[in-house]
Amino acid sequence: MTARRTHVVGAGIAGLSATLAATKEGGEAVLYEAAPWPGGRCRTIHPADGFSHDNGTHVLLSANRHALGLLKAVGARDRWIEPERKGLPLYDLRTGTMRTIGLSPWSWLWPSRRPRDMRVTDLTHLVRLALSVRDRPVASVIGDRPIMDSLIGPLTMAVLNTPPEVASARRLALALRRLLWPRASRLLVAKNGLGEDLVQPVIETLHVLGVPVLAGQRVRNLVTHGERVIGLSLTDRTIALGPEDHVILALPPYEIERLLPALPVPQRFEAILNVHFRLPGLEKPRFIGFTSALTQWLLVRRDHVSVTVSAADAVARGEAPDLLVSTIWREIVPVLRDLGLVVVADRQPEVRIVKEKRATIRQDAASLPQPPLRPLANLALAGDWLGALPATIESAVISGKAAVAALRHPPSAGVHASRAHPPRREDAA
Ligand SMILES: Cc1cc2nc3c(=O)[nH]c(=O)nc-3n(C[C@H](O)[C@H](O)[C@H](O)COP(=O)(O)OP(=O)(O)OC[C@H]3O[C@@H](n4cnc5c(N)ncnc54)[C@H](O)[C@@H]3O)c2cc1C
Repeated sequence: MTARRTHVVGAGIAGLSATLAATKEGGEAVLYEAAPWPGGRCRTIHPADGFSHDNGTHVLLSANRHALGLLKAVGARDRWIEPERKGLPLYDLRTGTMRTIGLSPWSWLWPSRRPRDMRVTDLTHLVRLALSVRDRPVASVIGDRPIMDSLIGPLTMAVLNTPPEVASARRLALALRRLLWPRASRLLVAKNGLGEDLVQPVIETLHVLGVPVLAGQRVRNLVTHGERVIGLSLTDRTIALGPEDHVILALPPYEIERLLPALPVPQRFEAILNVHFRLPGLEKPRFIGFTSALTQWLLVRRDHVSVTVSAADAVARGEAPDLLVSTIWREIVPVLRDLGLVVVADRQPEVRIVKEKRATIRQDAASLPQPPLRPLANLALAGDWLGALPATIESAVISGKAAVAALRHPPSAGVHASRAHPPRREDAA
C-alpha cells in the first residue's frame, strides 16, 4: 500500500501549522513555497547592508492559545516576551501625554487603568460591542463618543486592520470576549524578530521530522480528475500524487481564486505601512501605542525602531513617502527621548519602508464569502482569512489544524459539505 503524503502549498503560518499537524502522528508531508524563504506575511527581511527587520511588527496576546501552542511545540514559546508588563503605554500626540492603560476589559472598571476619555457610561457601549451578534460597523455600535478616538478606533485597526466606520463588530466582539479570561490580555512580541523566534524554529522542527521544505516552488496549477487532485504543476515539473495523498492549499484568497476559480473568496484587502528607523535602541523591547497621530504603534528594538500604520491605504495613497516618514519621525521623537534615546527631530536616521498592500482581508460588517473548507475530495483550504475570527496569526494556526482535521474523514456524499463556517466554539480548531 502507498503511504499517504500531505502536500502543503504555502509556507506562511497557516501552511507551517498544517504541516506540523499533518506530521503529528508520524504522517508524511512536503511543503511548497513560491518565495525563496518561508514565513509569508510573517518574515524577517535581511538586506545585504545588515539592517535586518521584520516586514512589520507582529504582536500576540496570551489569549492566542493556538499560536502559543505552536510556539511551544517548536520550543520557541520563551522567545516571545511581554515588553509592557504594567499595561499598555498610550501616547496622546495632541496633549503630549502618556497614559498606561489596562489591556484586559476588566481593568477598565478602575479609573486609573481606563483609556483617556472613558466614562463609566461608556462601559455599557463596550458590553454591547462585546456581545454583538448581529453584524454592523463598529463605529455604529459605539456612536460619536470620545472613546472612539482613544480606544475603539485604535483597537479596531489593530485587531481587524479595517477602519471602524466599516469594520465588523461581530469579529471584533469575538476577539474582545477572548480577552475576558484571566491573564488572556498579556501582549507579547518576538524577542529578536519573526524569523528567529517563529519561522525558523518551525522549519528546524520540520527538518528534524524529515519534511522537505521546497522554497522557490510556485504551484502554478492543480491537475484534477473528477473530485480529486492528482498532480501539482510547479514551474519546471509536475508532481504526480499518490492515490492516498492529500493537498492543503494554505494560500491567500486571490491565489485560491486563481487555482480554483469557482470558489467564492473575499475580494477586498487592507494595507499596513511599516516604517523602520535604524538607530541604537534598547536592549529590552518596548511597545508604545499612539492616539491622535499617524503613528499607531511603536516597537523599540536593540538596533532599530518600527512604526506601524494599519488600514494604511488612505494614508499611503495620497502623501509622498518622504512626507509620511518625516511626519512619523517627528511624532515619535518625544517618546523616544522619554525612553532615554538620544534623537533629534530634524536628524532623521536611515529608514526602510515596507508597505504590505494586501496585509489582511478587509474585515467589514458585510458578510465575507467563505468557500467550502474541503472543496475537493483530497484537498482542503487553510489561511488566516478562513473562519470567523480576525485574520491574524491565531486564525492562520487554527486554519492549518482545521484543514488537516477536515481531511481525516472519508469524503461524505458531497465534499462541499464542510464549509468554513464560524467555529461553533469561539476557539474551535
Ligand atoms: C505588516 C503586518 C502586520 C501584522 N500584524 C499582525 C499582528 O500584530 N498579529 C497577528 O496575529 N497578525 C498580524 N498580521 C497578520 C499575519 O501576518 C497573517 O494573519 C498571517 O501571517 C497569515 O498567514 P497565512 O499563512 O494565512 O498567509 P501568508 O502569510 O500570506 O502565507 C501564504 C504563503 O503562500 C505562498 N504562496 C502564494 N502562492 C503560492 C503558490 N502558488 N505556490 C506556493 N506558495 C505560494 C506565499 O509566498 C506565502 O508564503 C500582520 C500582517 C502584516 C502584513
